[in-house]
Amino acid sequence: MAFRMSLDDAVQFVPGVGPGRAKAFAKLGVTTVEDLIEHFPSRYDLSPKSIPIEDIEEGQVATIVGELRRLRSRGSLTKQRVTATLEDGTGKCHIQWFHSPYLLDKLHEGQVVRLTGKIVVLEDRAKLTNPKWQAMDDECDALEGDEEVWNPVYPANQQLTSAQIKRIIVNVIDDVVELIAEFLPPDLLHRRNLPSRRLAILRYHKPLSPSDVNVSRRRLAYDELLLCQLAVQMGRAQAHQSRGAVPLPRSETVDARIRQRLPFKLTPGQDNVIEEICTDLARDVPMSRLLQADVGAGKTAVAVYASLVAVANRKQVAMLAPTEVLAAQHFQKFTSYLSDSKVKIGYLAGSLSKQKRTSALDEIRSGQVDIVIGTHALIEQSVDFSDLGLVIIDEQHKFGVAQRAALSAKGRRPHTLVLTATPIPRSLAMTLFGDLDASVIDDAPPGRQPIVTTLVTADVETRAWKFIRDLIAIGQQVYIVYPLVDESEVLPLKAATVEVSQLAREHLAGVKVGLLHGRMKPAEKQQVMAQFRSGALPALVATTVIEVGLDVPNATVIVIQHAERYGLSQLHQLRGRIGRGSKKSYCLLFSDTNNPKSKERLNILCQSTDGFHIAEQDLLLRGPGELLGTRQHGLPTFKVADLCRDIHLLQQARDDAAKILRDDPKLKKSQNRELQRELNRRHSASQTLIRVG
Ligand code: ADP
Ligand code: MG
Repeated sequence: MAFRMSLDDAVQFVPGVGPGRAKAFAKLGVTTVEDLIEHFPSRYDLSPKSIPIEDIEEGQVATIVGELRRLRSRGSLTKQRVTATLEDGTGKCHIQWFHSPYLLDKLHEGQVVRLTGKIVVLEDRAKLTNPKWQAMDDECDALEGDEEVWNPVYPANQQLTSAQIKRIIVNVIDDVVELIAEFLPPDLLHRRNLPSRRLAILRYHKPLSPSDVNVSRRRLAYDELLLCQLAVQMGRAQAHQSRGAVPLPRSETVDARIRQRLPFKLTPGQDNVIEEICTDLARDVPMSRLLQADVGAGKTAVAVYASLVAVANRKQVAMLAPTEVLAAQHFQKFTSYLSDSKVKIGYLAGSLSKQKRTSALDEIRSGQVDIVIGTHALIEQSVDFSDLGLVIIDEQHKFGVAQRAALSAKGRRPHTLVLTATPIPRSLAMTLFGDLDASVIDDAPPGRQPIVTTLVTADVETRAWKFIRDLIAIGQQVYIVYPLVDESEVLPLKAATVEVSQLAREHLAGVKVGLLHGRMKPAEKQQVMAQFRSGALPALVATTVIEVGLDVPNATVIVIQHAERYGLSQLHQLRGRIGRGSKKSYCLLFSDTNNPKSKERLNILCQSTDGFHIAEQDLLLRGPGELLGTRQHGLPTFKVADLCRDIHLLQQARDDAAKILRDDPKLKKSQNRELQRELNRRHSASQTLIRVG
């Protein structure tokens, strides 16, 4: 090596880079030598097998391997070309490259090269013009002959192509790889049968065989997952140690009083999670608990219970809902359960008049209000609590990590309960909520019947509408969901606004049809919802504003137009609007799609009502970002690891992280020093994010 490099050096000083390309690299997130060698290929192209020259045919794109002969430079300055002959023992091929004089420096006679290009056969002479070339030296010798070659393809941009990046990395990797330290303890490497980090990085950039890619990838993905698990688990341990929360114990009297307030008997599943929650609440460690349950399982009752435990301890409760319609519904429910009690319930949402808002804020600040239910408006800076003891986040997937943290920050270490009806596959839950203890309601209120889900194609639509009219005639109610509010020029979608009048004229003639969409004024929304809730409005055309939380048990049918446009989990949520009472319910997925993939997706929904199963399928089909539906989901970004593919590896990493931390909770022991250093390097920025629930 002509000069000494360190991993911290600026990438600019790597041969072939310089200031201009350093800027282009910076855009790819590469500023140091270390970043450069961790700029991993996003995929590999398989070079075609080479064929003997005697077999090549006119017009064919072929790869040939042979020895270069008669390498010459010809022509004028303006029409310069390099010519050569390639011989492989079966024949000769004439080669010419235009405008590439530098090739004379790179190639030499007698060299074995691999050429790919379109063959022209003229008067029995095979010719290749401007072929792609690859020198077969050193390691590549192993490939000589007919092995397939795996060519790394790098994330690139306009200023810097994948090929340029590859050349720079391949050129420097052998020297730099020496500098890479191993941070995994040897026994772990051995136990999990992982290659050294050095070898993994080298072979990921310069694979000799497909298995090199797989073995290297496994190691590099494992590193990401293990470090993430260490960060998550250390954060969680820290949270469990932190004190300073006010314990909120529950006496038997309080338990009995709360149960009396509820209009039904809690299910065993609800009782179980309530026990878990109450155990947490009674401690001086702030609770950080995720409550997962399928749609309709009865999470609200659990939230009511937890709230009343806090109120019994003279603490305030804040409950955050993602939409105003849902916040209002919760407010009504809480109010009806607590109608003749002293508990005071407040409501805070963007639509409040200035005057009402001011008085709500005053009551929250002075402690007159015990439980405040609201939307994002709760997070605003002007909202001050007198003594916030419990924070409840409903439909947590609709909120970002920062928003959840902002609400918690309004109390002094309040307990936190997070509710979700988007069942999160275990792999994601582990990564996202490693710091949250999870509870699951694993049953449903009694008397529920399975929802029937069918695909409705154009030819049976008329029959479907007749079926719906018949149900309406016996007093049941229907949701009709459209993907958009307004007719869009780009997308030929039936839009809710247009469709209401049409429905009222045709399929639902004589039926009162209401409309609910996101752009309506809050007061209008509340009015429509009140009518639907009371049964005065048998049919409600809506956009996905109804996606979360709405609870009208008398609604037994949901029609989802253009069902193929939604993700599986979203469809499952929408379907969750029905089947909330004891009557048989129907989910009709209207779709004319001919796309086999879309059909397959919709069929998953027809066959299963298990939210966890559906979420897992959705994860496989669309990936974690889409599934969680928000950019602020706080999911760490991995370069190599893939939460769909690497579930098994993630479980190993989780177990290994736990084992390491059991033995050395702060990673202070000498055998873990490198691990600790690597953890700091990678997670210093994101650790705070991971810790907040
Ligand atoms: P989700 O878990 O989707 O938020 P909800 O809390 O809205 O579900 O409850 C769904 C419906 O089930 C509501 O109408 C609620 O009143 C009812 N419910 C909840 N728990 C019970 C129970 N233990 N027995 C009977 N009905 C219940
Ligand atoms: Mg709910």
